[in-house]
Amino acid sequence: MESKFITFCGRFLFGKDAINRVTDFLAQLAVEETNAVMINDANTWRVAGERLSKSLLESGFERVEAIFVEKGAVRLEVEKAREKIRSLKPCVVFGVGGGVNMDIAKASGFLEQSRWITVPTIFSTDAMTGINATFRPEERGVDGKAHEGDYDLTVGPPLACIVDTNVVRDAPWRYQAAGFADYIAKLCAIEDWGLAYARGRDEDFSEYAITLARSQVEYLIANAPRIRKMEEPAFNGFLLMMMNDGFLTQVGGSSRILFGSEHMVAQGLMEEQVRENVKGLHGEQVAIGTILMAYLQGLDWLSIRKALEEVGAPTRAVQIGLNDQAIIRTLVRARAINEAWMRDRPDIYTILMEESLTEQSAKEMALKTGVIQS
Ligand SMILES: [Zn+2]
Repeated sequence: MESKFITFCGRFLFGKDAINRVTDFLAQLAVEETNAVMINDANTWRVAGERLSKSLLESGFERVEAIFVEKGAVRLEVEKAREKIRSLKPCVVFGVGGGVNMDIAKASGFLEQSRWITVPTIFSTDAMTGINATFRPEERGVDGKAHEGDYDLTVGPPLACIVDTNVVRDAPWRYQAAGFADYIAKLCAIEDWGLAYARGRDEDFSEYAITLARSQVEYLIANAPRIRKMEEPAFNGFLLMMMNDGFLTQVGGSSRILFGSEHMVAQGLMEEQVRENVKGLHGEQVAIGTILMAYLQGLDWLSIRKALEEVGAPTRAVQIGLNDQAIIRTLVRARAINEAWMRDRPDIYTILMEESLTEQSAKEMALKTGVIQS
């Protein structure tokens, strides 16, 4: 193995009312800036941003300027933030909210050579510690290039991550259930990674990262009901695991631990939802994809489905607004989706490249797993 530079977020402020203690935390981090830019939307400003801004001003910050994201993860929003950073320099950038706001903070901070701190208010994604920021396709993206699909900008880890567990507890549960599903998808991703490695398609393989991920997922599956009830040790354990993704991908030397065939299926489901005008969450699409691909991989899909049910994530097509045909179409198309991914990342070889699904085998699988009923 060639030597690699490993870097991840190692500074956290975690727990009840963490936002109220931001001043002490910044002092510990030796942050001496007196200006800050905060990336929010109207909702995250209300649940966390406003209080954070007040704390900063009371602790001696001169200016804290809030940016309100309206159009999602697109270049325009990053430009808006960059302009503000340029005028307030020097500053630290806070990304307050879900994946979109954090990714805009990460990208704008990175491009303006500023530091950024993530403040997740929901746990539907692992963006809080990730070294990439993900954006929607545009003719001219954040990096100035054309993109036909979602793309990543590698920005490195945040300076720190602040999690106010009271804020997350008050957030709609749907988001956390989706995050849970996206996390346990690692079971399929690990299987596919092993396959790619065995076939000589991927040179990287980290038994260490896999061991950590596997034990975490096993814990989540066993404790899904306690997590759903937000019982404290289990719920906090879940949040901390979600925050561990940045570490896992770095120490694993690859993002392969985050996605495999289940994410290809999830992409197909997302496209079906777009066509039907259904607003779905990434983790919800992944939930269905994970059940189906775990079945295809011969994993214990029953306990995966049970845990997803217990945590309140969708396990059936109707729950994500899709009919039987949409599921079957997606499964039949999944290999083509995988091939498209492999044009950019030839290492993302999965079971779909070896087990082509026909309309009949797709239907059988979807019926057997209870994803469709008729
Ligand atoms: Zn995912």
